[in-house]
Amino acid sequence: MSARDCGGCTLCCKVMGIAALEKPLGRWCPHCKIGKGCGIYETRPDECRTFNCLWLQRENLGPEWRPDRAKFVMAPSADGAVLLVQVDPGAPDAWRRAPYHATFREWSRAAIAAERQLIVMVDDRATVVLPDRDVALGRVGPGDRIVSRRVVDGGRQRIEPRVERGG
Ligand code: SF4
Ligand code: SF4
Repeated sequence: MSARDCGGCTLCCKVMGIAALEKPLGRWCPHCKIGKGCGIYETRPDECRTFNCLWLQRENLGPEWRPDRAKFVMAPSADGAVLLVQVDPGAPDAWRRAPYHATFREWSRAAIAAERQLIVMVDDRATVVLPDRDVALGRVGPGDRIVSRRVVDGGRQRIEPRVERGG
């Protein structure tokens, strides 16, 4: 059960991929009534039925975090190991603006301590946000995996994200 409702936001119907509809990332679903809701609400795929972005789940996120205003959709993975930030390709730098980027840096500190990752995607291009830097990894395919390992270098520890290519 979500603590909030979507109001006039329909951004996930643009930025997220929907396999059941063969809808790619970053393009409006043909069934979306932009700013209003779903045109096939009663028969929408399960992926749409079960999707709850982080803004819906977290009442402590202010109005500036509503996805249609922020221009990105945040969604934790099912196992909680990744916080995905899927950005509207029409505003690819939206996540770098204040207050978002500094907040992502803060969240990434806690995420790393808990062996989790904060990953920003613009279409299929990934950037891992770390407390001290952002690491752009380029295109990531459906079978690929992003892993962040601790590397000891000159007696100092740093996090090194990379893509493990699937199949
Ligand atoms: S991005 Fe979140 S708030 Fe916006 S329509 Fe989707 S689920 Fe609702
Ligand atoms: S089917 Fe409806 S809920 Fe699902 S992406 Fe399309 S418009 Fe959005």
